[in-house]
Amino acid sequence: MPRPSDKPSRERPAHRKLRGYAFDPSLSVAIETADINEVLYKIRWEDDETQGGPFGPGPTGEYVEVIDFDPTVGKNGTFYARVDLNDPYILANDGLPPSESNPQFHQQFVYAVAMLTIQNFERALGRPILWAPRLLDDRKKYEEYVPRLRIYPHALREANAYYSPLKKAILCGYFTASPRTSALQMPGAQVFSCLSHDILAHEVTHAILDGLHPKYNRPTNPDVLAFHEAFADIVALFQHFTFPEVLKHQIARTRGDLDKQSLLGELAQQVGVAIGKYGSLREAIGTHSKEGVWVPAVPDPADYLATPEPHNRGSILVAAVFEAFLTMYKGRIKDLLRIASGGSGILNEGELHPDLVNRLADEAATTASHVLTMCVRALDYCPPVDVTFGDFLSALITADHDLVADDRHHYRLAFIDSFRRRGIYPQGIRTLSEESLRLRNEWRNLPAAEQNLLGIITEFLREYRGSVIYETDRQALFETSRRYIAGGQGIQGLHERLKTKFDGSFAFEKLTGLVYNRDWNDFGVPALHGTSGPTFQILNLRLASRVGPDGIQSNQIVFGLVQRMGVVFKDGKLKGCYAPGLVKKRPHNGFEVHGGCTLIFDLDTLTLKYAISKPLLDSESLDRDVHELNLERVERQYRYQTEELPLAMSEVGRYFGAGTGGAFDEPFALLHPN
Ligand SMILES: [Zn+2]
Repeated sequence: MPRPSDKPSRERPAHRKLRGYAFDPSLSVAIETADINEVLYKIRWEDDETQGGPFGPGPTGEYVEVIDFDPTVGKNGTFYARVDLNDPYILANDGLPPSESNPQFHQQFVYAVAMLTIQNFERALGRPILWAPRLLDDRKKYEEYVPRLRIYPHALREANAYYSPLKKAILCGYFTASPRTSALQMPGAQVFSCLSHDILAHEVTHAILDGLHPKYNRPTNPDVLAFHEAFADIVALFQHFTFPEVLKHQIARTRGDLDKQSLLGELAQQVGVAIGKYGSLREAIGTHSKEGVWVPAVPDPADYLATPEPHNRGSILVAAVFEAFLTMYKGRIKDLLRIASGGSGILNEGELHPDLVNRLADEAATTASHVLTMCVRALDYCPPVDVTFGDFLSALITADHDLVADDRHHYRLAFIDSFRRRGIYPQGIRTLSEESLRLRNEWRNLPAAEQNLLGIITEFLREYRGSVIYETDRQALFETSRRYIAGGQGIQGLHERLKTKFDGSFAFEKLTGLVYNRDWNDFGVPALHGTSGPTFQILNLRLASRVGPDGIQSNQIVFGLVQRMGVVFKDGKLKGCYAPGLVKKRPHNGFEVHGGCTLIFDLDTLTLKYAISKPLLDSESLDRDVHELNLERVERQYRYQTEELPLAMSEVGRYFGAGTGGAFDEPFALLHPN
């Protein structure tokens, strides 16, 4: 018999359990939902050993820091006492109990939702997430690592909440309810946006997406901001499916038919009612009519053409993804329904057997997690600027195909079909099939000399992979990637390599659509500091390693190239190209156009796999071995940013300063009066 050890046995816990709302406080006071609205958030354990500094009051952890300053209380504002989640009483009780009146619970709750959202992204991406760096006015060091996203639970006294790309912070507001009728909610009650799971998850997703695609807050076409809004809603929505009690309850209530109105397909109920709507702030599968009756949404391609406001336009994409989810879910439960119904597939009336509810809930949770993973992975296959919903569809289909060659459950078809029903296609494809939607492998079209050069670049990228593959410290990951881009410490950076190797290369211009020729000056591209070459920026160098369900593994390096050019318009016509610095001096007709290209390299075959381009140069002219401006893109961006966007924004009232340069200071405000 082993002797008892005199050393106490201790193991670092994997999770910290924290009590919180599945939705928001309003569902805790409704009889039907009171029992399911309080859930346990299982959050990755953080303590003194946590990378990036010890876990402490606030809460302050590796990824987020909650700062509870309320500028509207007292003369100069006030700091509320900070919650200490390591306090033994709080720890032993799985955190503070949900409470609308306890600011320390608010702090705990925003921390829990933020961490849950981060965990879901990291699971899908298979790598740590990084916040968008802070931009500095320093040529040598123009980016600074941002370790923590700051969350202010009580920053505003208004019905609003937003992620601020400038402050690297989420600011939540609180306000007095003014419901449509007093039966829906008590008029005059305080409503806290920080207590809504959906609003928090939405805002944290904006922040994560900003880290992955920092140029997506620049509205160069109607889809860009709408994509940000849609993605934020998609994550919040599918996170509902990770709370087992909620899922089972809603499956039982709808008898497994998730087409019906359910809490799972709604977002931000309490805030929606408090600003005078009948139901939730946004509804993915249906809406409440003026009479307060719920009607299912019918997809109509005309909506996509006629809905410019980002939140409303975004909801078209949310609906498309939700419909794909429903199709996949129905496919997965067919056999269960047949078994439960003695073969007919039509269930008897009355309540479902609890065993069936459990099995249906399992299938719904698996499908939801699958959809979320597909959507998140697609982000690596999107262009670095000027994204459209159609680009996202192509990215989604290609990313999934690369990992799961055989689409035997028809998941990709489900997406293609639900996007088609809403008129969402990528530009320039003739037929809508999986094959035509897939991005083309660009490697083969290149001349041998360029293939060799790209081979050298790929070798370098393999070196990069070696130095980051086992790196778990986020700051080290950031700094190493920076060094591989900009050079230093004995490394010739990627930027320098691309510049010298492809100087004046037609083939590289064809591949990327960006200006690398000797006449770059004529295109209004600014000079690269200290050299006689055109400026371009490398964004977000990253390693993406994934394993598919059949064991297919892919090792890829991804980065974005971005280039800007200055153009001047007069009377709606292009007058000429001048470097952006000069264009800024002519604020009335000067304009900056962004182009870019995402390059995906396959490290196993040492080849360039995809070049996903938003070209500044006209591709047909490049085929003729001349380079001409992509006038269509330039004019479209100009028209959109100077005419259509201000109009779309003025329709919804107050907005955030849409200038001709498209300089949105705070583009992600959640709510808008209408
Ligand atoms: Zn938003």
